[in-house]
Amino acid sequence: MEDCIFCKIAQGQIPSTFLYEDDQVVVINDINPQTPVHMLVLPKKHIQSLAAAQEEDRDLLGHMLMTAKNMARERGVAESGYRIIVNTGRDGAQTVQHLHMHIMGGKQLPEQMV
Ligand code: AMP
Ligand code: ZN
Repeated sequence: MEDCIFCKIAQGQIPSTFLYEDDQVVVINDINPQTPVHMLVLPKKHIQSLAAAQEEDRDLLGHMLMTAKNMARERGVAESGYRIIVNTGRDGAQTVQHLHMHIMGGKQLPEQMV
């Protein structure tokens, strides 16, 4: 999709270091990390948000979660633990309108988000 920064990153139009790539997803480091480990799983397909995902995206959503799990292990936080976040819509504080999963770990996270 035009003018979507995560489409441009996932399609290689903006130089970015891929921690992982396959035919469906890429994984990058968050540009403004909130935790020692803070990665993003981006689908190559433009989906505006989780709320916009369709039944046909079921396998892609599962693949994103398994990719997050594998990346957490690769970055050494599988044992210590981590948090997967999918900010969705205005109240969810989604700022980039292209579906993405945050993988956050490397420190003790607060029990409550709010
Ligand atoms: P949110 O939409 O609230 O889930 O957050 C979007 C996340 O994308 C934020 O954590 C940003 O720091 C991150 N972000 C925005 N632009 C880039 C970029 N060019 N490269 C990597 N991460 C980015
Ligand atoms: Zn996009």
